[in-house]
Amino acid sequence: MEKTYLDVPHAHREYAARFGAVSDQSTGRYFVLGEVPSELYSYVPKEPRHRNYVNEVGQQCAVCGAAMEIRERRSDRSLYYRCVSCLSMLPV
Ligand SMILES: [Zn+2]
Repeated sequence: MEKTYLDVPHAHREYAARFGAVSDQSTGRYFVLGEVPSELYSYVPKEPRHRNYVNEVGQQCAVCGAAMEIRERRSDRSLYYRCVSCLSMLPV
């Protein structure tokens, strides 16, 4: 069964345990096995939001036709397109 880790504040541990949250012996983090009960949804860590550059740009790779994402060159912070499939590059 799938383990879903939860961010349970100390004060909410009893509440979370009532709905099936179990603490991991090694890490002390709480998790549930299988489906997360709706009572515990608020403890599921939010996925970090990544900007979807592919949709923003809409550039297509000239080599393979896949979508391109916009990247920042670390050396001089200039921008370039990079194909998500074949990794070929294109100046912006
Ligand atoms: Zn490509």
